[in-house]
Amino acid sequence: MDWLNEDQRALRDMAANFARKELEPIANQIDIDEHTPDELVEKAAALGLYGLYTSPEYGGSGADLVSVCVVSEELAKASPSFAGMLTVQMVLCPKAVEILGTEEQKQRILTAHASGERLMAYSQSEPAGAANIGSHLTRIVPDDDTPAGGYRIDGAKLFCTQGTAKTFLVMAKTKDRGGNEGYGCAIVETEDEGFEVAHYEDKLGWRGTNTGPISFNNVRLEAGDILGDILTGGFSHRAANHANLLAHVATSIGCAQGLFDKTMDYVQQRRLYGRDMAELQPIGYWLAEAHAKITACRALLYDTVRQFEAGTVAPEAGNICKAFIGETIFEVCVKLLQMWGGSGIMNSTGVNRYMRDARAKCVAEGATEMHYAIIANQLLHNQPTLVPSNIVKAAAS
Ligand SMILES: Cc1cc2nc3c(=O)[nH]c(=O)nc-3n(C[C@H](O)[C@H](O)[C@H](O)COP(=O)(O)OP(=O)(O)OC[C@H]3O[C@@H](n4cnc5c(N)ncnc54)[C@H](O)[C@@H]3O)c2cc1C
Repeated sequence: MDWLNEDQRALRDMAANFARKELEPIANQIDIDEHTPDELVEKAAALGLYGLYTSPEYGGSGADLVSVCVVSEELAKASPSFAGMLTVQMVLCPKAVEILGTEEQKQRILTAHASGERLMAYSQSEPAGAANIGSHLTRIVPDDDTPAGGYRIDGAKLFCTQGTAKTFLVMAKTKDRGGNEGYGCAIVETEDEGFEVAHYEDKLGWRGTNTGPISFNNVRLEAGDILGDILTGGFSHRAANHANLLAHVATSIGCAQGLFDKTMDYVQQRRLYGRDMAELQPIGYWLAEAHAKITACRALLYDTVRQFEAGTVAPEAGNICKAFIGETIFEVCVKLLQMWGGSGIMNSTGVNRYMRDARAKCVAEGATEMHYAIIANQLLHNQPTLVPSNIVKAAAS
């Protein structure tokens, strides 16, 4: 990564320092407790991590996506789970608000978010399938009892990753006052009456953040709680989703690199059958193979990120990274963990969480097969999405 500029290097070093001093010592405990301590969130906020990708006029640092990815990678070396939660906070939610929001919404939401005062969550998944939005049941409809053209939202969502979020961006089917139907986005706050966070799931991986179902029972929304166009806001922030996928993939690479670094140390200090473990038959080969795969994945990711920044990226590039790199990294983590023998299976060594987090990353932000389906749609039909055409048509009319 010699090509990083001075600012990007400074941010990478800052993140590496934070990861080493603040994250690494408690990363295994975060996994065991399935909880990220508030103090860590506060420290991350004080460093400006939540507003890293947010424009300076809304309290952020306005860093580029390369910086966001190198920071994500460094944090993921210590805790892939914490880093995964952070990309949603750094990229997906604030970028969606920047793309869709009015000036008032951006000032209100983004400044409180960048300071860490009001973190955000992004909620799309429903029982009928996360990406299958044509079958989603949550509805935002006009409400004549709400002052000045308000709406109400009813329904339920699954698997919403919240951490300590207070502001939720909720994608749902919508109807405008003219009876037109589409897919929009509402801002729902934890304080809103009728909004409930039911419980948190006990998860295989990504345990540093709470994930669970949320529900809306006749939650009243003012006109200013609708983000973007009522009929298209739910899918017209694709640049935020794309950037977020790339940052998410950076955490996958950091995940494998973190386990690789620990495995190198372990292998080099361990002797087996009177020999250095590294000299045993498959070990050196596996290390070399892991190093080659991580290096190749990193090259693909940053090539894509730089094309994204230059505005020349292919629509399906993020899907390619997510599907291909995600699965490759998982395979790498399985092999690396195997080198630890029984010690890798014991939770006390704190290394099997990398493999579990790598698996969770192949499903969170869209399952691998869904991303391949999107790539196929782009190849065969020149359509960079799985959004059902009736929704797109209705929204466009
Ligand atoms: C740790 C974690 C955190 C999450 N956080 C959030 C969050 O904050 N907000 C949110 O909205 N969602 C969140 N999710 C949900 C996540 O986005 C979905 O789980 C994921 O997109 C898969 O959708 P699904 O669970 O509905 O699987 P399903 O749609 O039931 O898919 C099951 C399987 O079918 C296959 N499949 C699915 N779609 C296709 C397709 N189009 N073509 C071919 N095969 C396909 C895949 O193999 C997939 O694994 C989170 C998930 C996890 C695991």
